[in-house]
Amino acid sequence: MSAVAAEGREAKAGSGRPSSITLLFNNRLATFGLSVLVLVVLTALLAPILPLADPNATDPASRLTPPFADGHILGTDALGRDMLSRLIWGTRVSLAVGFSASLIAAFAGSTIGLVAGYAGGRTDQALMRFIDLMMAFPYILLALAIVAILGPGLINALYAIAIVNVPFFARNIRGLTVGLARREFIDAARLSGKSSLAIIGTEVLPNVLPTIVITLSTTIGWMILETAGLSFLGLGAQPPQADLGSMLGEGRKVLFTTPFVSLVPGLMIFFIVLSINLLGDGIRDVLDPRLRSGALARPSARTDIAEDRVAGQSSARDDQVLDVKDLRTEFRIGRSIHKAVGGVDLAIAPGECLGLLGESGSGKSVTAMSLTGLVPSPPGLIAGGRIGFLGEDLLDVSDKRLRNLRGGDIAYVFQDPLATLHPLFTAGEQLIEAIRAHQDVDRAEARERALTLMRQVRIPNAEARMDAYPHKLSGGLRQRVSIAMALANDPKLIIADEPTTALDVTVQAQVLKLLDDLRKERGTAVLFITHDFGVVSEIADRVAVMYAGRIVETGPTGEVMANPAHPYTRMLVDCVPVMGEPDRRLSAIRGRPPAVDKLPKGCAFAPRCPRAEADCRRGTIPMEVKRGRIEARCIHPLAPGEALETGA
Ligand code: ADP
Ligand code: MG
Repeated sequence: MSAVAAEGREAKAGSGRPSSITLLFNNRLATFGLSVLVLVVLTALLAPILPLADPNATDPASRLTPPFADGHILGTDALGRDMLSRLIWGTRVSLAVGFSASLIAAFAGSTIGLVAGYAGGRTDQALMRFIDLMMAFPYILLALAIVAILGPGLINALYAIAIVNVPFFARNIRGLTVGLARREFIDAARLSGKSSLAIIGTEVLPNVLPTIVITLSTTIGWMILETAGLSFLGLGAQPPQADLGSMLGEGRKVLFTTPFVSLVPGLMIFFIVLSINLLGDGIRDVLDPRLRSGALARPSARTDIAEDRVAGQSSARDDQVLDVKDLRTEFRIGRSIHKAVGGVDLAIAPGECLGLLGESGSGKSVTAMSLTGLVPSPPGLIAGGRIGFLGEDLLDVSDKRLRNLRGGDIAYVFQDPLATLHPLFTAGEQLIEAIRAHQDVDRAEARERALTLMRQVRIPNAEARMDAYPHKLSGGLRQRVSIAMALANDPKLIIADEPTTALDVTVQAQVLKLLDDLRKERGTAVLFITHDFGVVSEIADRVAVMYAGRIVETGPTGEVMANPAHPYTRMLVDCVPVMGEPDRRLSAIRGRPPAVDKLPKGCAFAPRCPRAEADCRRGTIPMEVKRGRIEARCIHPLAPGEALETGA
């Protein structure tokens, strides 16, 4: 018990994901923006203690002094006031107004959005129509009207800018909240008796906060510009107070004779807005959950392959459809390396079905996705090995060839058909698209073929189901549609990743039978991934058992199930309930698989294995045990028929 807790804590501490700050500093432009902004803000904050001249002290004798003359670094304006001093004090005012206006707009707008989106119905209607009304007026006109009503002045300009920006936050946040308010975790919170206010605060708000921050960071620069605009028109800061906009306005009068007077505040506005926008973009990237796991780059269309990949000497075996040797796929996250697949060998003959079996997290899906380069990079990287497919090494082929193979000669069926089928297209349209992506046929013919496929996967009433959207089909039918899509281009290999896990038992049996029949009819090779020995025994000719990224045992299904050599396989077999033997005790496997970024030395299963001895923990265990057609990676294998002393 305590060991498990300690393990959990350790895993948390060393999770290896770089912090948001590190990610932000990895982005050079954002770092530049941040540095400029910090410099500007610091200077503005320190204005009272800097040795500056009085920004409002006029001196007609030295009016329009050029920069670097008479002790005025940036020269003087038309009234002889020191430009440097006015610039720094003016920046202080502009920043304060811009930031406050943004915060007010963000707070008011987000609150309206949250309430409208969560409450829905009439409250939503009333609030949103009010917001629409505000959006119906041209933006700057509305600000001008508000200032006209409130009277010119800096504070009123601030209110005006804040008010005209409320709709952007309200619209954005409402849209998100509407989607969230109907999600199951909100229902769960309601069922737990939380008040609406608490739900908005603790369930909805944390989910929309990144969007608020992103919108905020990208609008602050804009708001500083707007404040400057109002001041430029004489509606914001009133003389003699300086802000960047009013300085621009004063410079305009002497623009052609002494341009530096307007250039100085103009450049300052430029730098502030630029730095805030660069920083805002950086913050958006860091807060985007899809980019969180690794570097700040979007995943590429194909998994990266290590430059120094050692392909291994084994020659391509033409008698096999798939011949994988020593495949190693890693995730490089921060400084840690997760060895999700650590040297996997697989071979599948034409028409054969290989069951790839293992606990959740053992690396089955990553193995399957590596085959056609579908592991997201970064952080994914194929570090080594070769993937022989009908004599070709898939790690060497061009991107174009790989695209042709995907969905063509190699087809996938995934676990959750609702997630893989497009919700906005009918089953028929998606089948037709799958066919036309690889075959040069017109729509009418593709439709004919699609219909034939729907019948082949035994979808009743296929004609009508062609025009059904995925949400109208039951789970079993959806998975049949996925299988039809996989079959669309007569693949040589079908990779089915837990295709029946999301289905109930009777439907699961039907889908398994269908897959089995189809592959026998067509002679298609199948890589069938599952965590369930019960399922694998119904379809697979051979099994490969995977643990912590490596194959630990392989052999014909019947032999492996009857007489496994590896203790892990034995335990998996013992987990399968047998119909008609209600008294048999099912033993759960104690402990958890190791974290793949901290694999133990030696056998990865040793910490959970009742037969483990000191030598199991010393070095890499080879795939050495050979018994009949069974091969296992164990140095203390079970004898045929030997039971496991679990010592429970
Ligand atoms: P399963 O056998 O359940 O299909 P997977 O192949 O999905 O397991 O995962 C194997 C390991 O790889 C797990 O430890 C998982 O955390 C890790 N992993 C999978 N995908 C990613 C990813 N995109 N980034 C980082 N780690 C990943
Ligand atoms: Mg998986």
